Amino acid sequence: MKQSKTFIPTLREVPSDAEVKSHQLLLRAGFIRQNTSGVYSYLPLARKVLKKIETIVREEMDAIDSNEILMPALQAAELWQESGRWEAYGPELMRITDRHNREFALGPTAEEVVTSLVRDELKSYKKLPLTLYQVQTKFRDEKRPRFGLLRGREFIMKDAYSFHATNESLDATYDQMVQAYTNIFTRLGLNFRAVLADSGSIGGTGGSHEFMVLSEIGEDTIAYSDSSNYAANIEMAEVKVDYSHSDAEMKELEKVATPDQKTIEEVSAFLDVVSENIIKSLVFKVDEDLVIVLARGDHEINDIKLKNSLGAELVELAEDAEINELLGSHVGSLGPIKLPIGVKVIADHAIKSIRNGVAGANEDGFHYINVNPGRDFAIDRYEDLRFIQEGDPSPDGEGTIKFAEGIEVGHVFKLGTKYSESMKATFLDENGRAQPFIMGCYGIGISRVLSAVAEQYQDSYGFVWPKQVAPYDVHVISVNTKDEAQLALGEELYKLLKSYRYEVLFDDRQERAGVKFADADLIGLPVRVTVGKKAAEGIVEVKIRHSGETFECAKEEVLDRLN
Ligand code: ATP
Ligand code: MG
Ligand code: MG
Ligand code: MG
Repeated sequence: MKQSKTFIPTLREVPSDAEVKSHQLLLRAGFIRQNTSGVYSYLPLARKVLKKIETIVREEMDAIDSNEILMPALQAAELWQESGRWEAYGPELMRITDRHNREFALGPTAEEVVTSLVRDELKSYKKLPLTLYQVQTKFRDEKRPRFGLLRGREFIMKDAYSFHATNESLDATYDQMVQAYTNIFTRLGLNFRAVLADSGSIGGTGGSHEFMVLSEIGEDTIAYSDSSNYAANIEMAEVKVDYSHSDAEMKELEKVATPDQKTIEEVSAFLDVVSENIIKSLVFKVDEDLVIVLARGDHEINDIKLKNSLGAELVELAEDAEINELLGSHVGSLGPIKLPIGVKVIADHAIKSIRNGVAGANEDGFHYINVNPGRDFAIDRYEDLRFIQEGDPSPDGEGTIKFAEGIEVGHVFKLGTKYSESMKATFLDENGRAQPFIMGCYGIGISRVLSAVAEQYQDSYGFVWPKQVAPYDVHVISVNTKDEAQLALGEELYKLLKSYRYEVLFDDRQERAGVKFADADLIGLPVRVTVGKKAAEGIVEVKIRHSGETFECAKEEVLDRLN
């Protein structure tokens, strides 16, 4: 592409409203422009990077037999009412009304749409498993859109959904997805960790992983071992301890359960629900065999039930200053605690001012209200309640815990039958019986990934794009286009490189040399070929952006030197 014909509005000044490096540079180098809060136009350079990211994602999705489709972003409210999320999703859901007063959502994600699609079309176990994915614009009315593309209100996501007849089949696809995501983020050159993310998977079933790019601007904190693969988001950090129903744990659970009806399974069922629905939860270990779960945030379907039947107690819990302080001081970035809903075992000193604690299962009538510390479980054991800290031994026994900030670029999740049951999506099994689909969902924030790469790959002059996602491979610059030799040699190299399938940006503009070099630095293509004063002799200068290596060579050598 000739630079005189493209649209790269670079800026000399750092935009004052952009707080982080990637946002600043994406604006300065002419990649994006904000339209309104959290909503951006992707200009030609950004579009090219996005396409390359998408290509890598598509290749890895296709390699595991995931089928690309494209579903509507405009989604009928009825579907969301069926799943219960019309209410539960809260203010982040963008809602609109058509001329007939019918309500719609602008999809923040597509579980409802894909579940209804498969429900209507797929009837037999013989067609399972099936994985569908799309790359599509998503909408979320984020409370605090920020950091440019990192947290937008309109953004691009790759979202995949898998359908299964058995849990084993879900596990197999889930593992393939984790591997595919690992391949994707590795190919993208990102410094990332796959992090355990679902506090419901106590016992280590691994029902959810987040893919976190390590970055000081990350909004999540992860805990990882300095000498093994162990990594968990901070909410999960202590739960990775082998917690598969030790005898001691069984005893604790039995103590919480009121005698007549509560089984271990019921208590764990409650925990599963917490995990499925929490936006934020806190899980911390008191000692070897006791873990406390506090969940909070915007809760979905099942929790609404819970909330309704327990309203009063919950408000009381939520208003407890001591809990707020306890949680707030450790998770300041999460903001004030809104709604601690489920407490597997409530620590004495977290609730000592509260008479009636809450613990329970996930159905009306299955909660334990009036849980009384001291009567229903011992309180003298909870003295050393604390959060995991840097320097603690890693739960897997290898190395010590370090903290790091992370940007969530991907998230994989075992959904189970949450959507298929509420939306009555069933298939016929081998015996002709109707069974709900077992599902998984898998997201990657494509536009967020663009920002994450941008954040990682830059220096004080501008971007330093890695080859695989650079908007172009080579920047050919004719320094002075009024000089015929310079313009002609620039053109010649431009055509030559293109004929060898290089993607080339050719600066043929009538601009001062200083402007051209400053723009080239900002844009940051992997290789720059400068055609200057020695053009008449057929000599050009080649600069490798990431190493700064610079050398002169004859025009005939350029191709060879690029490899
Ligand atoms: P976050 O914790 O950052 O709010 P999320 O957990 O709500 O993200 P998911 O529902 O897991 O996001 O969506 C899948 C992926 O979509 C995320 O891992 C992230 O990469 C991306 N994503 C989510 N929200 C945004 C956003 N507002 N802007 C850009 N990308 C986003
Ligand atoms: Mg979110
Ligand atoms: Mg998240
Ligand atoms: Mg997520």
